[in-house]
Amino acid sequence: MGCDYLSLATPGVQGLHPYLPGKPIAELEREYGVSNIIKLASNENPLGSSPAAIAAVRSGLDELWLYPDANGFELKQALSRRLGLETECITLGNGSNDVLVLLAEAWLSPEHNAVFSEYCFAVYPIATQAAGAEARIAPALAADSDMPLGHDLQAMTDRIDANTRLVFVANPNNPTGTWLDNVALRDFVANVPETCLVIIDEAYLEYAGEGQGSDAAVWLADFPNLVVTRTFSKAYGLAGMRVGYALSNPQVAAVLNRVRQPFNVNGLALLAAEAALEDADFLARTKAVNDRGMQQLRSGLLDLGLGVIPSAGNFILVDMQREAMPIYDALLRKSVIVRPVGNYGLDQHLRITIGTQEQNATLLAALADVYS
Ligand SMILES: *Cc1c(COP(=O)(O)O)cnc(C)c1O
Repeated sequence: MGCDYLSLATPGVQGLHPYLPGKPIAELEREYGVSNIIKLASNENPLGSSPAAIAAVRSGLDELWLYPDANGFELKQALSRRLGLETECITLGNGSNDVLVLLAEAWLSPEHNAVFSEYCFAVYPIATQAAGAEARIAPALAADSDMPLGHDLQAMTDRIDANTRLVFVANPNNPTGTWLDNVALRDFVANVPETCLVIIDEAYLEYAGEGQGSDAAVWLADFPNLVVTRTFSKAYGLAGMRVGYALSNPQVAAVLNRVRQPFNVNGLALLAAEAALEDADFLARTKAVNDRGMQQLRSGLLDLGLGVIPSAGNFILVDMQREAMPIYDALLRKSVIVRPVGNYGLDQHLRITIGTQEQNATLLAALADVYS
């Protein structure tokens, strides 16, 4: 090859580091020859998907030859009824990842900057970098604070200026699991200049307990620069279908609509999401299993002498008290996949998704072995 195609890529893309996903089950099978694998690495729903969503996908198999509804009419109607917002406020995405990237494509360029916290969701820096914009990283709260490694809203405010177009806030946050006080978050939004969009990423909203989640959608009427993103990947158990959405004022949604691919959400995903939205029973079971599993894992991890960060999500960030990669690898050999977070600057931590009671017990037993 005569050309160096990396050096011909845009400056933003040249500095890009690819997203590191959790290890797929089939890959671990191939690499280590182990079986009966438990994956607690990607915050997937241990109950699988809503039976209603699976049935809806089956019902759509005869129409794979048709383009999907580019406007997602039915799903938007269902969301609109559920949320009490006009359909014009909704932008559907191929996962909420898609809408996060669309926001960066539409509002970030090399003259602009985006603000986010240290230890935030990896997609924020990736989307910012790809757009060639400056990333302004606010140091997280201290490890010995009330909300260890969580977002420091004051530090974030301090980094916003006239060239800041986006500020990303995840509540609850991934990979830390930490959450923000509702009043403090609303005050923060109120103080951001209107030229800067505030993105509140609520991927784990459904798991958050009393006083933990923000449900910031109710603030949309007060703040034209507010964007709330949500997903069907986590509590709704549809990570493989790729569907999420943004809620915003209609003008912001119209801009996102200009940049998105016309058919960014596929037909089966639209059907699955509509059905999942109506399955209150599945959501309730999901929440109950997560609440119990959170207690089980927390106390088991504390018994092992490990450090546990408070979490409002379906995962726990654990301070392994030593370099985490060898422990990650030892767990792989025992057929358990968890998530290393060295790429987030957390070399001593692992992120562990809450599984079923049995999966959690298996993980705890494997860890006890590793630490014995
Ligand atoms: C998982 C996750 C998402 C979105 O995932 P999609 O599958 O793309 O909807 C968004 N934000 C955070 C913080 C997440 O952890």
